[in-house]
Amino acid sequence: MKTLQYLKNVVTLKLKPDLCTGCGMCTVVCPHAVFEMANGKARIVDIDDCMECGACANNCRFGAISVKAGVGCAAGILNGILRGTEPSCDCSTGSKACC
Ligand code: SF4
Ligand code: SF4
Repeated sequence: MKTLQYLKNVVTLKLKPDLCTGCGMCTVVCPHAVFEMANGKARIVDIDDCMECGACANNCRFGAISVKAGVGCAAGILNGILRGTEPSCDCSTGSKACC
């Protein structure tokens, strides 16, 4: 079944195939199955499925993935307003991980 999608064409997720070693970790940690392996490299299946949690970028030891974690989630937006910073909820790190 298709997961709920985020807003269309706003996701900050980027994959650099030249840096990908094909370890497969991003396919393990992504809660929305955004990645799949093809010909020994990760590829993005549907970027609009990404909820910008940051788990993939935090777990890619080769720097092949970047994403601005939490820019679109409610916690991130509220944190940004309260802190006067860019929206970020730091979802995938620390003991307060929310998604
Ligand atoms: S975690 Fe990084 S190196 Fe490993 S498959 Fe995914 S993009 Fe490639
Ligand atoms: S940021 Fe989260 S939802 Fe988006 S691709 Fe990475 S692990 Fe999946």
